[in-house]
Amino acid sequence: MLKVSSILSTVLLLSLLPAALAQTDAAPYKNASLPVDQRVHDLLGRMTPEEKATLFAGSGWMESAAIERLGIPSIRMADGPMGVRSWAGSSAITNAANNPVKVLSTSFPSGIAMAATWDTELVQREGQAIGQETKALGRNMILGPTVNINRVPLWGRNFEGYGEDPWLSGRMGVAYIKGVQSEGVIPSLKHFAANNEEFERHRIDSRVDPRTLNEIYLPAFKAGVQEGGVWTVMSAYNLLNGVHCAEDPALLTDILRKEWGFKGLVISDWGSTYSTAPTVNAGMDLEMPGGPPAVAFLKRGATALAGNSGGWLTAEKVLAEVAAGHISQATVDANAGHILHVLFESGLFDHPEPATGEIDTPAQIAVARQGATEGIVLLKNAGPLLPLEAAKIHSIAVIGPNAAVARTGGGGSSLVRSKYAIAPLDGIRERAGSAIQVTSALGVGMEGEDPAQDTPEARAKALAEAVAAASSADVAVIVVGRYPKLEGESFDIKTMDLPAGQDELIEAVTKANPRTVVVLNTGSPVTMSKWLAATPALVEMWYGGQEGGHALAAILFGDANPSGKLPNSFPKAWADSPAYPTYPGKDLRAEYSEGIYVGYRYFDTKNVEPQFPFGFGLSYTTFELSDLTVSPGGVTQKALEAKPVQVSVKVRNTGTRAGAEVVQIYVHDGHAKVDRPLRELKGFERVELAPGATRTLHFTLNLAALSYYSVEKSAWTAEPGEFEIFAGTSSRDLPLHAALELRQ
Ligand code: BGC
Repeated sequence: MLKVSSILSTVLLLSLLPAALAQTDAAPYKNASLPVDQRVHDLLGRMTPEEKATLFAGSGWMESAAIERLGIPSIRMADGPMGVRSWAGSSAITNAANNPVKVLSTSFPSGIAMAATWDTELVQREGQAIGQETKALGRNMILGPTVNINRVPLWGRNFEGYGEDPWLSGRMGVAYIKGVQSEGVIPSLKHFAANNEEFERHRIDSRVDPRTLNEIYLPAFKAGVQEGGVWTVMSAYNLLNGVHCAEDPALLTDILRKEWGFKGLVISDWGSTYSTAPTVNAGMDLEMPGGPPAVAFLKRGATALAGNSGGWLTAEKVLAEVAAGHISQATVDANAGHILHVLFESGLFDHPEPATGEIDTPAQIAVARQGATEGIVLLKNAGPLLPLEAAKIHSIAVIGPNAAVARTGGGGSSLVRSKYAIAPLDGIRERAGSAIQVTSALGVGMEGEDPAQDTPEARAKALAEAVAAASSADVAVIVVGRYPKLEGESFDIKTMDLPAGQDELIEAVTKANPRTVVVLNTGSPVTMSKWLAATPALVEMWYGGQEGGHALAAILFGDANPSGKLPNSFPKAWADSPAYPTYPGKDLRAEYSEGIYVGYRYFDTKNVEPQFPFGFGLSYTTFELSDLTVSPGGVTQKALEAKPVQVSVKVRNTGTRAGAEVVQIYVHDGHAKVDRPLRELKGFERVELAPGATRTLHFTLNLAALSYYSVEKSAWTAEPGEFEIFAGTSSRDLPLHAALELRQ
C-alpha cells in the first residue's frame, strides 16, 4: 500500500504543470464577465489535486480554506438565522457569559415569529437586513434559514423554523434567501433533511416514507433551491432512512442536484460528517468546522459511536481515498467545482475584501420591530379586555419570570447578542408613561435559572407578592414561558407544560384580578388546560428578538392591531399530537408513522380538536370574506400546465380599526386514489385595510397545487375530478368554497 506522504509528493509533482499555467492575468477564471460554469472549468484546470481536496474541509470554526496561489478566498461564515451571531467558537463557547469576542448585532424575531407574520415581503427585508449586517461584520455567509418542519411540539428548535406547513415554510425560506442574496451574502438552507428532533441528533434515524418525505419534509428545501436559487444547502446531523444525511447520495445528488437542479455547494452541519469516501461520493462538498483547533474541540464533545469527531475531509484523507480508488478524480473535481461555483456566483471571488456597512441601523431595527409586532398572535380576547385603554387605566401589574427579562430567542447557535433588548416590562413601562403606575413582580422564578428562587419559602413569597400586585392594579399582565436552557438547540423540550409554578401563578393571579392578560413567550405550544377557561385574554409573543417588549406593548395598548396567525397547530395536550406515539423513537429509529398527517393535516382530517388551529389569530377589528372566484372552473391537465388557474377573494374590514388579515387558500381533493389530507394550504396573502375598505386578492393555483406524490409513479400526480378550493382565515375557519374541475 502506498504511504500518504508518497502520494502527496506524486501529487505535488503532477501539480507543477497546471501551476505553471495558472496566474496569467488573462486567465478566464478571473474574468467576471464570463459565465460561471466557464470560470469554474478554467479554474479547476489550473488546480492541483491537493488544492482541490484542500477546499473540502474548513480552516477554522467558521472559515473555509483559502488558496492564495489562485486567489481563492475563504468563505467567512456566521450563525444565523435570526441575525448575525458571534462566530468565534461553538455555541457552547459563544453562549458562555464570558464570550471572549463580543459581537453585537440586531436580534431579529425567531423564525416562528416571522412565520406568524405571514408577511413574505417583510421576511425578505429581514433577510436583506441580516445580509447587510453579515457584510458589515466582515463575514460573507449566514447560516440560515432553517426550514425544518415542526413535527413534534417538543422539538427544541421549533422556534428557529417556520412552522408545520411545507407551503408556508417554503414561502418564508424563499423570501429570506432572496433578501440575503440580494446583498451578495451567501445563505445556507438548513438542515437537509428530516431534522425534526434534537434527541440523539447525531444518531437518530428519521424513518420517513417517500410520499411523506416529498409532501412534507422536502418542499421547503425544493422551493429554496428552485425559487430562491439558494447558493448553499446544509446537510443535517441525523440519518434519513438508515443513512447519515451527509453521506446520502439519494438525498444530496439524486434529489438535490439531478431532480432539483442545485448547482451550489453542500456544507455539513458542524460535526455532521461521519466518514470520508461515502461523504465525498454522496456529494457533500465542505466539512465544517475544520483545522486542528476546531477538530480538537469537536473530538472532546463527540458522541460515542456517532463518529462525529471531525477531520474526515482533510486533503490528506481525501487524497488517500483517491489513491485507494474509493473516490474518483471526477468526483473531486465535481465537488471542488460546486464550491468554486458559489464563490463566483456570489461575487465573493471577485470581491474577497471584507465589505463595510452598518449594523443596528434604524432601518434594520425597524424591520426587527415590525416582525415582532406582526408576529404576535392574539389567541383569546373575552370582553374584549384588549386593547387596553390607556386613558381609563391607572395601574398595571406586570408579572412573571419572563416579564422583566428579555427572552429574545431560544438557545443554541441561533441566539444573537444584541446591544440592547426590550423586555415586556420595559416596553409596557415606556408605553404607559407617567400617567399609569406600572408595578412588577416575579411571581415565580424560571425553572432551573436561579437556585435562590427555587426554595419553598422563596416561591411562596414570590407568589404572594404577585397576587398582591395584581389585586391592587387595574390590569395584570403575566408573561410566562421558557428560556434558552429549557428550549433550544441540542436538546428537546422536556414537557409541553409550562415550566414549574407558572400554571399556578396564572391561576392565582387571574383569581386575584379577573382583568388579567396572559402572554406566552415561547417558541412552541404549551398546555393550557388548567387556566385557559378562566383567562380572558391570551397572547403568543414567541421569542421576538430585541424589540419584543416594544412590540408587545404596541399590541396590548392597541397602537398596533394584532395580525399574527399561528404557523403551527396548538394541540390541547402533547398526547394529542400525531407524533406522540412514536417520539423520540425506539432503538434510535424515529418512525414517522403518522406519514403526511402532520399538524393541521392530522387534526382536521382525523377530527381531533386542537386548542388553537393552524392559521388562527384574532384582531381588534373584524373582516368579511366574499366573492371567491375560481377561473376557469374547469381545466384540462395540459391547459393547467401551461397556465395556472386564477383565484380571487374579496376581503373587507368591517370593523372600526385599521388592521391586517391573512387570507388563506386551501385545496381539498376528495377523489384521489390515495388518502389525502382534508385540506392543504396552497396560497395566502396578508393585507392591510382601513376601516370599511375592501380589497380583492388574487392567487394562482398550478398543477402542483392539486397534486400528491405518487409512490407508484415516483412523481407528482393530480387525478382528474373535482377539487374544492376554500378561502378563509384558518385551517378551520373557511367560509368560502368553490369547485375546480380537472379534466383529462
Ligand atoms: C447547528 C447549525 C449551526 C452550526 C454552526 C450546529 O450545531 O445545528 O444550525 O449553523 O452548528 O454553529
